[in-house]
Amino acid sequence: MPIIMANITVIGTGYVGSVSGACLADFGNHVICVDNNAEKIEALKKGIIPIYEPGLGAVVERNIHSGRLSFTTDTAGALEKSNVVFIAVGTPPADDGSADLSYVEAVARQIGSLIDKYTVVVDKSTVPIGTGRKVGQWIREELEKRNQKTAFDVVSNPEFLREGSAVYDFTHPDRIVIGSESEKARDIMKEVYRSLYLNETPYIETNLESAEMIKYASNAFLAVKITFINEIANLCEKTGANVTDVSRAMGRDGRIGSKFLHPGPGYGGSCFPKDTNALAKIGRDYGEIQNIVETTIATNEKQKIRAAKKIENALGGPGSLKGKTIAILGLAFKPNTDDMRESPAISICEYLAQGGAKLRLYDPAAMKEAAWRLVPIKDSVFYAADEYDAMKNASALIIITEWNQFRNIDLAAVKNTLAEPNFFDLRNIYKQEEAEAAGLRYFGIGRA
Ligand code: NAD
Repeated sequence: MPIIMANITVIGTGYVGSVSGACLADFGNHVICVDNNAEKIEALKKGIIPIYEPGLGAVVERNIHSGRLSFTTDTAGALEKSNVVFIAVGTPPADDGSADLSYVEAVARQIGSLIDKYTVVVDKSTVPIGTGRKVGQWIREELEKRNQKTAFDVVSNPEFLREGSAVYDFTHPDRIVIGSESEKARDIMKEVYRSLYLNETPYIETNLESAEMIKYASNAFLAVKITFINEIANLCEKTGANVTDVSRAMGRDGRIGSKFLHPGPGYGGSCFPKDTNALAKIGRDYGEIQNIVETTIATNEKQKIRAAKKIENALGGPGSLKGKTIAILGLAFKPNTDDMRESPAISICEYLAQGGAKLRLYDPAAMKEAAWRLVPIKDSVFYAADEYDAMKNASALIIITEWNQFRNIDLAAVKNTLAEPNFFDLRNIYKQEEAEAAGLRYFGIGRA
């Protein structure tokens, strides 16, 4: 295979684009990251990372320093220097549940209006099956407008990183998926991922549609797994079984595996909710209803409200929230991120606030996000300085996100700080006996 060096442009410098760009530069590629948000780009140029992502700052800094990574708002200038362009813009949910492709289309058309040499266009955004072909069509339409016949190939290269461990995930992936029918493009992608490819990372080459389906099917499967254990946990509460023991024993079965088998207040985040909805919509559009996915979406919504109702019931039933102060620890959809997109904390806070509760909130990274995401309930919300400040005079403490710093709270101090000793551990990070020994009334998930 001839070595064809990759000079890469990454368009969209959000969670995925910034991590992909920085890590691809770390692999030895020359990478230009583009975003149309000038403020973001100015910050990144100075090595300031606009998102909370552990380890990303160091990778960005060392690659800026080595001259392999740069940031710009100038798409044309970046494309001029590149033979590979990654599309890493958002694909947020549209009103009907489908993925909104307007950002992808805008970038594809921009690429078509600018390229003047062979370019591999890599779709890293999560997109519905068939989008790769549309990207090709949008680029061709723009080339035709300019009477250009510039050659290009479209590749689907879905991303599986998890926020919070994104740098590790990108540099140690379980697999790399490359969807393309072009041998030339596939060869160039091997150069892009050379350090992983040579390292025997499983490297799956397939067609565009399969690569796009792999991403949706993988995310949907994980969402199903979480939802399954949540329903088992709910049943454990009624039957006297303990879900911690149940999931630990289930997870030891190699056919099942222990990951994504932790019950909680429902999944959230920027991916599972939107990707399950998009897959369900694709199923409906093709007349192949994805029953399991449809049920998972509905069940997950119920799980968030179930958690809020459980709190209300424990505090005295309907009407009991009025005038109560409640401490909430953890607002991000999971630890180690500031991302609150579709976080169960939003649904739970809204339910409690609508019931008349006053909320004292604390999250180690998501306070800035919360300040605008919780505007609809702003009159019911106080932003605390830390976890102990949040508990002051509260009738209940609720752990929604399992940040490490919430795993070792001084339970005696909790008892002394709360006005009433109600302790809701929605992530099962405490032992019931321990909490009860400290004088707390403990409520976990999936325990009688
Ligand atoms: P994001 O919203 O954090 O970032 C998108 C970025 O694109 C923003 O900075 C925005 O300013 C920029 N942008 C939009 N239009 C642009 C344009 N025309 N030119 C230049 N920049 C433009 O989104 P994200 O979380 O990084 O997700 C990106 C894609 O990756 C989505 O399809 C998502 O589903 C997928 N994905 C996300 C994750 C994750 O954990 N966040 C994981 C895997 C895949």
